[in-house]
Amino acid sequence: VTRVPRTDIAVLGGGPAGSAVAYRLARLGYRVLLVTADRPDGMDRTEVLPPSIETLQGAFPLGPALADQPLAPLTRGRWSGFGEDVRPHPGTRLVQRVSFDRSLLQIAAAAGVELIESARARRPHRTPDGWMVPIDRAGDRCSVTARILVDAAGRRGGFARNSRLLAAATVALCARWTPAAIRAGEIWVEALPDGWCWSAGVADGVLEAATFVSMAECRGLGLQALRRRHCQLLLQSERFSAALHGAVPGPVRVCDATARIDEDPAQPDLIRVGDAAFAPDPMSSQGVQAALRSAVQAAAAVHTILSGGDAEAAISFYQDAVQAVAMRHRTATAELYAGHQRWRDHPFWRARAEHVTDAPAPSVPIQPMAADPALRLSRDVEIVAAPALVGDMIERMPSVMHRSEPRPVTWLNGHLLAPLLDRMGSGERASAILAGWSATMPADEASSVLQWLMARGIVEPGPPPS
Ligand SMILES: Cc1cc2nc3c(=O)[nH]c(=O)nc-3n(C[C@H](O)[C@H](O)[C@H](O)COP(=O)(O)OP(=O)(O)OC[C@H]3O[C@@H](n4cnc5c(N)ncnc54)[C@H](O)[C@@H]3O)c2cc1C
Repeated sequence: VTRVPRTDIAVLGGGPAGSAVAYRLARLGYRVLLVTADRPDGMDRTEVLPPSIETLQGAFPLGPALADQPLAPLTRGRWSGFGEDVRPHPGTRLVQRVSFDRSLLQIAAAAGVELIESARARRPHRTPDGWMVPIDRAGDRCSVTARILVDAAGRRGGFARNSRLLAAATVALCARWTPAAIRAGEIWVEALPDGWCWSAGVADGVLEAATFVSMAECRGLGLQALRRRHCQLLLQSERFSAALHGAVPGPVRVCDATARIDEDPAQPDLIRVGDAAFAPDPMSSQGVQAALRSAVQAAAAVHTILSGGDAEAAISFYQDAVQAVAMRHRTATAELYAGHQRWRDHPFWRARAEHVTDAPAPSVPIQPMAADPALRLSRDVEIVAAPALVGDMIERMPSVMHRSEPRPVTWLNGHLLAPLLDRMGSGERASAILAGWSATMPADEASSVLQWLMARGIVEPGPPPS
């Protein structure tokens, strides 16, 4: 067994989450080693990235990785089950994951991350001063020792995890079809009686299609049977039944597509990022963005622990952040499934439309600002010290607790919320509150912060002091 010199942080997995967390930690001055397996041949996948991913540029310079990926500004489909929906989304991109992930790894390497590529990490062991990770590469075995381990190995990884399903188990069956009369950049989504399909024209005449079905119905089926099931599903589609009739797909890849969360994503010497912490339903097209966001939070948690900051706050912040994003996602996807009408009584649709009622409803309608009401803080508001992301660290910050929000709110649109409430006089007119805040933010931002507070009942109409 060859020993690789000791490192501060070993990142296992070189997808978006692994590259981003490694990049952030290397920039903070740590020695970071990233071990990644290759995607197996034929496992490249076309995915959609929303334009909001660009907001992460400041945290991770994605630009070069996005540069050559084509725009796909429109999705058409039949989601409700009846009429055709057209959803414009300017700035959305189609990415080929193998080349995209390669560019992200290069960005991390340029920041000083040491890469061990085409290598598979085996089950890590705890040692008295950190971790030992056995690694298989080209028939050789070496080992890495590190103080902190980052599990960024995606949904599978092969390591022991404490994961819980967030929805009924779903499988994706993906294949490329070549004789299709299809235009590059065309995206189509369609609800089917017992599943749904997503497809994109990856070049003129080349269709990539994924069908999503219940895992229960695939259990025990071999690749040929799964391929037949993929074809049957697509032939039920109004868009493809004629276009693909008689055509033969390439090899079918099978992957888990169930939303799941790890119940224990942060410990003092171990943190899970991206899909390893929370894997969303692919329907949201948010997986890569969520993975990058979790990498930024995880890097701050690791930096806080290694630099002698408040480790307990760091762990609690990260666990809470994973939980919060997973619960929001669960509600939003259940709403999307519940939006389907035609086969809503079929088991596939019924099982996935659950949890719709989790979203907290705003307690008070937005008040018209023109009337310039006198406002005061709700009696239910409490200011607590909650762990929050501040720059590259996690710190306990004064945060706003109220029954309308499931957890304390520290930041709103990039502004610390508690000091803003502190500056409000009870019974002050809306215009005076906004004037006070406009010293620290533009007027339109101040107005949207106040409307957000009023919509939740954190700030409510109340008489000026007599
Ligand atoms: C069918 C399907 C369609 C999807 N479509 C979209 C979409 O359109 N848009 C979107 O944003 N998201 C989509 N997603 C979700 C998205 O793919 C993931 O959320 C995202 O890739 C998570 O990134 P990650 O870095 O956490 O994990 P991954 O991208 O899975 O990266 C994990 C990396 O770890 C490596 N690895 C695994 N095990 C080991 C090991 N033992 N040793 C070393 N390396 C290892 C893997 O080779 C891989 O490189 C889709 C998911 C599925 C299943």
